[in-house]
Amino acid sequence: MIHEILPVGPLQCNCSIVGDEVSHEAMVIDPGDDIEQVLAIVRRHALTVKQIVVTHAHIDHVGGAMKLRQATGAPILLNQNDYALLKMLDAQAAWVGMRSPGQVEIDQGLSEGDQVRAGSLEASVIHTPGHTEGSVCLYFPAQQKLIAGDTLFSGSIGRTDLPGGSMEKIMSSLHTRVLALPDETVVVPGHGPLTTIGEERATNPFLKL
Ligand SMILES: [Zn+2]
Repeated sequence: MIHEILPVGPLQCNCSIVGDEVSHEAMVIDPGDDIEQVLAIVRRHALTVKQIVVTHAHIDHVGGAMKLRQATGAPILLNQNDYALLKMLDAQAAWVGMRSPGQVEIDQGLSEGDQVRAGSLEASVIHTPGHTEGSVCLYFPAQQKLIAGDTLFSGSIGRTDLPGGSMEKIMSSLHTRVLALPDETVVVPGHGPLTTIGEERATNPFLKL
C-alpha cells in the first residue's frame, strides 16, 4: 500500500493519499487544502485518483475537494448527516479566518458499512457521530489501519462544542466502534501524530471517562 500523509492548510489537517502499488488506483482522504502538493504526490507515484473521501464536512478537511475533483474527475464522498454542515462553509471560513472555498458538491453518500475501493485496496466506513453528526472513520482491515478524521487523536479526542457536536455521541462512537478494533491498528488522526488503538486504549485520558 502506498500511503502518504500530507498536513494541509493553516490547521494542518492530515490529508492521506492511499494507493494500490499494482494498479496505481488511489483514494485521497480529507483534501482540505494545498491541492497542488496533493497532486504532486499523486503524480510522483503515478496514481489515478478514483475516490475523494471526506471524513466530515469541516472546512479544513473538505476545502480543497472541488479543486481535486476538477483535476482528477474522481467523485467526492461524504456521509449524508454532514450535508447541512457542508452548506455552512462560508460561516466555517469566517470562524477559522480562512477564505471560503465556495460550494462543494457531493457525488456519493458514505454510509455505515459501505466499502470504498481503489484497486485492491478496500476500506469499510464506520459511522462515528460526535465531532459532527456525519463523521466517519475509514478502516482498512488488510492493512490494520484506521483513518480517524477528528474522532480520535493521539492523547485526545475530537471537540464537540461546534454545531452538530455531541460529547455523548463521540464517547459512544469511541467506546462501541473505535475501541472495538484490534490494538495493533495504526490510527491516522485528522491532525497531529499517528498512534495505535492499543496506545490510546492504555493512555488516552479521555477514554478513561
Ligand atoms: Zn473537524
